[in-house]
Amino acid sequence: MRHSPILPSLQVLRCLTHQHRTSLQHYHMAGILHARIQLPLGDHNVPAATSAIILKVALPVPLFRLFDYYPPDSVTADELQPGQRIQVNFGHRQLLGIIVAISDEASIARDKIRPALTLLDREPVLSASILKLLHWAASYYCHPLGEVLYHALPVALRQGKPAHFPTQTLWQLTELGGSTRPSSLTGSRQQQLLEELQRVPQGLSQEALRTLEYSSQTLNSLQKRGLIHSFSREQRPLAPHGNLLNEVHLSLNAQQQNALDTLLQRDQGFSVTLLEGVTGSGKTEVYLQLIEHHLLQKQQVLVLVPEIGLTPQTLRRFKHRFNVNVVILHSGMNDNERLHAWLEAREGIAQILIGTRSALMVPLPRLGLIVIDEEHDASFKQHEGFRYHARDLAIVRAKQADIPVLLGSATPSLESLHNVERGSYYHLRMLQRAGNAEAPRLHCLDIRNRPLTQGFSAPLLESIRRHIEQGQQVMVFLNRRGFAPTLHCADCGWLAECASCDARMTLHKQSRRLVCHHCEHQAAIPLHCPSCGSAALEPIGQGTERSEDALSDIFPDVPVIRIDRDSVRGKQRMETLLDPVHKGHPCILLGTQMLAKGHHFPDVTLVAIIDADQGLFSADFRGMERMAQLLVQVAGRAGRAQKPGEVILQTEHADHPMLATLCEQGYDAFAREELRSRQHVGLPPWQPMALLRADHRRPAIALEWLSSIRQALQDYILQQHWGHEIQLAGPLPASMEKRHDRYRALLHLYGSQRRELHHLLQWLCAFIELNPPPGDLRWSVDVDPADTF
Ligand code: ADP
Ligand code: ZN
Ligand code: ZN
Repeated sequence: MRHSPILPSLQVLRCLTHQHRTSLQHYHMAGILHARIQLPLGDHNVPAATSAIILKVALPVPLFRLFDYYPPDSVTADELQPGQRIQVNFGHRQLLGIIVAISDEASIARDKIRPALTLLDREPVLSASILKLLHWAASYYCHPLGEVLYHALPVALRQGKPAHFPTQTLWQLTELGGSTRPSSLTGSRQQQLLEELQRVPQGLSQEALRTLEYSSQTLNSLQKRGLIHSFSREQRPLAPHGNLLNEVHLSLNAQQQNALDTLLQRDQGFSVTLLEGVTGSGKTEVYLQLIEHHLLQKQQVLVLVPEIGLTPQTLRRFKHRFNVNVVILHSGMNDNERLHAWLEAREGIAQILIGTRSALMVPLPRLGLIVIDEEHDASFKQHEGFRYHARDLAIVRAKQADIPVLLGSATPSLESLHNVERGSYYHLRMLQRAGNAEAPRLHCLDIRNRPLTQGFSAPLLESIRRHIEQGQQVMVFLNRRGFAPTLHCADCGWLAECASCDARMTLHKQSRRLVCHHCEHQAAIPLHCPSCGSAALEPIGQGTERSEDALSDIFPDVPVIRIDRDSVRGKQRMETLLDPVHKGHPCILLGTQMLAKGHHFPDVTLVAIIDADQGLFSADFRGMERMAQLLVQVAGRAGRAQKPGEVILQTEHADHPMLATLCEQGYDAFAREELRSRQHVGLPPWQPMALLRADHRRPAIALEWLSSIRQALQDYILQQHWGHEIQLAGPLPASMEKRHDRYRALLHLYGSQRRELHHLLQWLCAFIELNPPPGDLRWSVDVDPADTF
């Protein structure tokens, strides 16, 4: 097998033009795009519908094609631009689409083409550069363009709301009104209103006049006399004036200064730099000073953070530092807030946009730098629908815009490290903590043959006690919420299983329910075994609720603060719960991976990881990488500031070679070993990979369909002489085959060259569209999958 080290983000860069071509080829293949993409010139006063113009419209439907419409009746050619929203009839529905091209060639008979209904925008909502990016993404991720474009818009714009800030009606004097004496008017309210407006020549808003209790009658009569007039104005927020900095920046230590200097040298045009810095090494400070440099040049900066990383702490740091308009965008905001943020970005009013995944697709006319914090984080990959990877797509965006990208992480992804090895990314490392805090060491605690009290070994409890007695804080990490992973009958061995999934139900004691964490199915906790009737039901294993009970029993005088999805609802509540921790009081902080990112707990001196073994034997090829990243991230919470930290990992596999490498030699050595073992088996990042997923309500249907697809693929591969370039594996049932009442199966596709793999995937999508699967079968293509479950 030939290995070609080609990586998502990279090869992206190289094959940009190639990809764009294949996307067009693909439309040709499906017999769709014969259009010459250009604006027909000619007499602009002729109504468009009578001319030959055809709009190529992308619609949010799961079809790999564009649709032809005539322009709406009243619209002229010079009002039309790609990227505008347009309302159309589609079947018996009305849909909102995006104009992708304006052409004079139809792809269906002209008498079948209908005029579109309404043009919604004067200016495109998707700029030419965003359209180009999304075109690329649709082709690369094999997702219908219409859905991709739709996905890129804030919900409010998908619903057809206007793409501008709310407008305000203002009332102002006319020239005549300015020279009229109020006393010449009859009614006293009319006199007062005229006086009021003469005092405020720039005008007063309708709302202000309402609160002053002027009736519309009063307003109307002055308007009829030609004394006042109204006009509407968009309420655009203003960017702050004055100094760029609110506070002096920290003076950098030598390694930070070196990183910043290098970044500034590489600051012209496109480049990717990986800043690998241990937690607390001061990466954020380097971001801030690099960003400052771009703000000085009046550029906009995009900062992408993981789902969980956009904490009030992060935001505060940006706002404290810069006297600029820092705008955030995340899934917790409502539709209006998101629209507002989007508009601020598009209008250039947002100087820094900090957001999760989807912020990547927001138009930023003066974008000068993209920073991706925690670049290894799995939440950058969308797990359903349009399955893009925000980091990889951000790199494509930067390439297209010819600007630099900075990737930061304490535990870089194997993809990025591989790109460093290949010389595609520049590597900067910061191995010491800023402010001279000591980095914590990982210590494996072998718990084979040791009795456990509610999941805790005696030496671990002893360590917790020691730190608490010294007035310190302790963090206990367990990545499993609920009370116990399942309920078990001691007499017959029955286990509480989900009826809809191949999974156990988790016992939640506080809500007194059994809950499936895969489909959210819930049931009451049975008093007797449903199988044998025995009352000997007992919870098995540890969840955070149970650990909370145990710790509160063992350390009755110490507050135990539990942070997981059940105890926290919303960012605000999280901050409230964490308040005593930030105040530095001795306490035990217990939680899931919600604790692992974005937070600094300077007074935590001990991190205890109760169960380090969850990732060791994962069915997924990224399981080990994820486990190592999570452990290092959790460990990194400890011993910031001046207090040295200690990290204890309880494990039954202290001799596992990868765990040993991680603990003894650190993440970097671990990552290098893991990269080599992926190379041996030809997995990403060494070989690009895609999955064809399918599921169906009845068993075996998805598997059978994938087998028939595999056959078709093999025939095509043979025909193209790609026997060496492409390998197929499967189909196989998914490792959790039944989930939410559907049976799932997978077909793996590997390519030694990304070019052939992508060509094949596009052929595949066109093939499936022409040969539709059995009813109710759902399928999707996942390019560069984040997991293979
Ligand atoms: P990272 O992002 O790498 O985890 P941070 O930028 O959050 O690290 O820095 C960790 C801590 O060190 C923060 O409290 C920060 O204020 C402090 N810090 C960073 N750089 C410096 C510096 N040059 N001098 C003093 N303190 C610093
Ligand atoms: Zn039983
Ligand atoms: Zn379930």
